[in-house]
Amino acid sequence: MNEKSLSDLINNPSCLDDYDPNSMAVVQARKYIKEFLKPVTTRESVPIRSSLGRVLAEDIHSPCNVPNHNNSAMDGYAFNADDMASSGETSLKIIGTAFAGKAYEGSIKKGQCVRIMTGAVMPEGADTVVVQERVTVEGGSIRFTDGPKRGMNTRYAGEDLKQGQVVLPDGHLMRAADLGLIASLGVGEVKVYRKLRVAFFSTGDELASVGQQLQAGQVYDSNRYTLYGMLTRLGVEVIDMGVVRDEPELLEQALIEASSCADVILTSGGVSVGEADFMKQLLEKLGQVVFWKIAMKPGRPLAYGKVGDAHYFGLPGNPVSVMVTFYQFVREALLVLMGQPAPAPSPLLKAICTGSIKKLPGRTEFQRGTLYLDQDGEWKVRPTGNQGSGILRSMSEANCFIVLDETVGDIEAGMPVQVQILEGLI
Ligand code: AMP
Ligand code: MG
Repeated sequence: MNEKSLSDLINNPSCLDDYDPNSMAVVQARKYIKEFLKPVTTRESVPIRSSLGRVLAEDIHSPCNVPNHNNSAMDGYAFNADDMASSGETSLKIIGTAFAGKAYEGSIKKGQCVRIMTGAVMPEGADTVVVQERVTVEGGSIRFTDGPKRGMNTRYAGEDLKQGQVVLPDGHLMRAADLGLIASLGVGEVKVYRKLRVAFFSTGDELASVGQQLQAGQVYDSNRYTLYGMLTRLGVEVIDMGVVRDEPELLEQALIEASSCADVILTSGGVSVGEADFMKQLLEKLGQVVFWKIAMKPGRPLAYGKVGDAHYFGLPGNPVSVMVTFYQFVREALLVLMGQPAPAPSPLLKAICTGSIKKLPGRTEFQRGTLYLDQDGEWKVRPTGNQGSGILRSMSEANCFIVLDETVGDIEAGMPVQVQILEGLI
């Protein structure tokens, strides 16, 4: 698909197989969204430490072999395996010491060895290290039986990385190990894609902001806080535009402002059946947006499209729905836009469900659960209490989603279910 087909999707949806905006499968919606994403292309150079959580914008080639020289993997004695007795005891004369960072300058001749520390350069003529625990030292010589095989306890030049090899590819999300890996090459700066700018606001006449007195019928706006948290963890530049009343002029103004400064706009509320028509008219005027009822719970209504050049996600208003739709649709889209061509899907693991769950086939449910290791060493998941889409406590208590796909019906206690862990390893 290309730009033009976002219009096709909106104006002539019947040209697409399986397209039903009133019951869009989760996987189908993810697929459509992905087809319209255009990643950022601007690059910038940053010192290694600042690249943590950013997306690499170049292939990193190794300028050298790592390690740079053959060296010892253990504290022991370096020698040539040809000097080992074919049976019985081997005896070798110690002719010097090699430290990490201070090599033994001479070479090893027949019947000789060098005391060697971990990381020290292998002396010329040596190809094997016998560990110090295996030898008897006496009168300037060592003795051992059952010696190591040739090459044992040594590390070879280039065994970690070969000179010229692509160490990390363009599009790689930088993690702690990668910072160390790049430092091990002596590289001080890397190119990364510029940060994605994401603007968001909450919609609703009933919303009060933290710090204001709550009036009758009002609720505090929590969505901007969960969105702030999730976006910040993803490493994007966050533009918080506050609460916007359900008034067309104000919403229009906010959307135009957001599209002028952000790559992506997120709104919460205003896409449910009662309110969608209102947003629809506005978004038709400002861009191209599709409204879907996703076959999922929670998070049924979702709008997606473009406002000007910015990508737009209209998330439902209910606090749990905001988080679920963010995790299931927005997160992956943002990673692609940040420059990662194929973000790793968050894996589904199997665990035994400790409670029963009522579930209708035909839609995907993301129940909140607590995953734990029981005394018998088996992974179990306990659904958190009230699963209402307004009960944010269920998200706060949970450490995973229990993912019940479209084919699944009621779950009895003791049955295996699929879970998706909320925290990633860092
Ligand atoms: P809506 O999708 O706008 O119809 O909102 C659905 C429900 O979510 C309503 O009960 C709203 O009061 C609630 N809601 C909407 N936005 C927020 C928000 N930012 N924070 C907390 N609750 C909200
Ligand atoms: Mg609303």
